[in-house]
Amino acid sequence: MLKAVEKIVALAEEKNISFPEAVLLLDSKESGISVEEIRARMRERLADMRRSVREACANTIPCRIEEPMGAKLRAHGGGMAGEFIAAASATAMEVASYNAVMGRIVAAPTAGSCGIIPGMIFAWEFFRGEGKDTDELLTGALITAGAVGEVTAFRATLAGADGGCQAECGAAAAMGSAALVYLEGGSPAASAHAAAMTFKSVLGLACDPVGGLVECPCIKRNGILVANGILCADMALAGIESAIPLDEVIDSMGQIGRMMAPALRETSQGGLAVTPTAAEIVKRIGETGKLGG
Ligand code: SF4
Repeated sequence: MLKAVEKIVALAEEKNISFPEAVLLLDSKESGISVEEIRARMRERLADMRRSVREACANTIPCRIEEPMGAKLRAHGGGMAGEFIAAASATAMEVASYNAVMGRIVAAPTAGSCGIIPGMIFAWEFFRGEGKDTDELLTGALITAGAVGEVTAFRATLAGADGGCQAECGAAAAMGSAALVYLEGGSPAASAHAAAMTFKSVLGLACDPVGGLVECPCIKRNGILVANGILCADMALAGIESAIPLDEVIDSMGQIGRMMAPALRETSQGGLAVTPTAAEIVKRIGETGKLGG
């Protein structure tokens, strides 16, 4: 298991290879599985992710709390955030909504945060991938994202029940941010800085789903946190560095998660889940099976 991003970056710099190539070397050495086999498996996950986005965009099954939001944002266009973020956010919310109605998604790193990475990498493919071997590049992006997730799982947690939403949606955004830096041709160290800055923007984020359903605030958080990850990728590509290294930021996230009250860790006993409006929503769902009757 990968235990430190620092080691990945050091190996990449020593051998003058990319972030995902360093991950493949380390993973292959530890698991005994060939680099080609690991890459092929990740290509399959990429194909699964593509399918989930396609199905999610065509999905018409309604969620229980949230109305469809991806199409609304697409119709609104780039607005102030810009086309890239709007498209990434719309896709992220569509995939997260699809998860909420039991659609088959890639839990990267979890089902609740499943929209963030596809939102980010497929927006990159659409806006920045023309003329490139995007299957190959996006496979490298998933390997990069996966490595950040693996280190996070080892050093902290990826579960909202253990660490709050910082550990789920926060981790997904950090993973995606590192992947975007790789896709843009940034250095392995810049990928680590992007992930560190993204994590720092979500530290302490509670897990407080209304009615215990992975909808509110989960779906919008998928749509919102892509923006953090994209901006942090741009910051890292501009040469801005995290003063605290990624591994230590991940340690902090884990520590904050352990210090969080259980009411803020997926129990629906605190935060947004106990607001008066949440109580009304839960009551309505109990009576009618969905919001609004
Ligand atoms: S609020 Fe909780 S259940 Fe919802 S996405 Fe975040 S961690 Fe998952």
